Amino acid sequence: MSTAITPRHVAVIGAGAAGLVAARELRREGHGVVVFERGNQVGGTWVYTPDVESDPLGLDPTRTVVHSSLYDSLRTNLPRECMGFGDYPFKKREGKGRDSRRFPSHREVFTYLQEFAADFEINELVRLETEVVFAGLVMVGEGGKWRIKSRPSNSDDRECVDEIYDAVVICNGHYVQPRVAHIPGIDGWRGKQMHSHNYRTPEPFHNQVVVLIGGAASAVDISRDIATVAREVHIADRSIKEYKLGRVPGHDNMWLHSMIDSICESTVVFRDGKAIVADFIVHCTGYKYDFPFLETNGAVTVDDNRVGPLYQHVFPPELAPWLSFVGLPWKVVPFPMFERQSNWIAGTLSNRIALPSKEEMTEDIEAFYSSLEASGTPKHYTHKMSDDQWDYNNWISDQCGFPAIEEWRIQMYEATSKNRVLRPESYRDEWEDDDLVLQAQKDFANYLI
Ligand code: FAD
Repeated sequence: MSTAITPRHVAVIGAGAAGLVAARELRREGHGVVVFERGNQVGGTWVYTPDVESDPLGLDPTRTVVHSSLYDSLRTNLPRECMGFGDYPFKKREGKGRDSRRFPSHREVFTYLQEFAADFEINELVRLETEVVFAGLVMVGEGGKWRIKSRPSNSDDRECVDEIYDAVVICNGHYVQPRVAHIPGIDGWRGKQMHSHNYRTPEPFHNQVVVLIGGAASAVDISRDIATVAREVHIADRSIKEYKLGRVPGHDNMWLHSMIDSICESTVVFRDGKAIVADFIVHCTGYKYDFPFLETNGAVTVDDNRVGPLYQHVFPPELAPWLSFVGLPWKVVPFPMFERQSNWIAGTLSNRIALPSKEEMTEDIEAFYSSLEASGTPKHYTHKMSDDQWDYNNWISDQCGFPAIEEWRIQMYEATSKNRVLRPESYRDEWEDDDLVLQAQKDFANYLI
């Protein structure tokens, strides 16, 4: 490892949790940082808005994009102790407008991120309401330069500002561009439909028969939300175990089905042979990675939701360390991962940490892709981590001398995952891992906030 620290001029795109902690780590390392944020506040996904897009499916490329996918009733699906940054715990706060629950409402996460930005004086680095419309390489090599074109949000190209940066860190989030499943007959669907990205409150579903597609966290939450007002809710989940098919325990208007086989006008036919006449389809089918502003001459592409080639989900070998991504992996505890990735990026940019050669990084990526193929993992699961997240985090920690992930955090994540299966309706209010909460609180006492 080299010891000569070299400060760089770095552009960070996005001021969500990833961009905020990237800015903190880059500045701590001694770099000059500008954070571009097209919204009017920091917080990214956690800036709730009742606004929805003109195309409820979110597919029309000419629509005005609404960034956040939050619904009004959303509470975190991770306990706050587990969710927060390592040295800035997401502690309970009492007081007006605060939500001290262990799995708080989205508003509490927003407040936590706002406080993070204020306490670490990140706001002074952020240009709000400034959208990056182009990020492209000008020159490769030591001191590689990037051209960033930005403009005030909702203005036109005449107001573009052109600047040159040494490096770009992309933190633009990946719950914005909807993915929808292809279903035979959907083009002739007579009813209404939307993607969960545009779901906010249950009112529009009053007395409706609703088919909801998906089995992940938002499908579970939104189905329960809608069932409070709908006549019937039918969930089509392609990974459902056969013994679970049928009425959902504890609900008299909600049923689980296998995936949809086909649609004929107003009738939805499931693969389990059941058919129902419905009013509304809600697609809780996930999102696509999208970097509409990025120009790398083919060095980074998105293919079937694989962003690549990327060394350890962060650096494209061809452009490292001048281009990097924070936050691509999913099915993870995001914030602690963001801070490790950011510290690694900051350290490589300053020459504190050496990356392997381009050839070695490429070999590593090829070996990873081969292992996915050998295990039958589809390409679009390239960035799905789940159980591998701890080794991944600790591998990055080793690269940059960052503390390892706390053992209580790993156990808490696992306890919560089990509890969610055991008590899908009440896991946010009933749990059995108070011993881990105590361990976390003991750890938190080391931090002043
Ligand atoms: P974002 O928060 O999406 O921030 C990206 C930012 O980039 C935005 O502010 C956007 O305006 C900005 N941006 C994008 N393009 C441009 C551009 N061209 N120019 C300038 N700015 C741009 N995580 C948890 O830990 N716990 C949970 O309980 C949890 N629940 C979730 C529930 C839902 C419904 C969703 C969608 C996600 C949830 N997550 C949860 C994951 C969540 O995405 C992460 O916690 C985290 O907030 C992601 O941060 P980010 O900075 O990567 O992206």
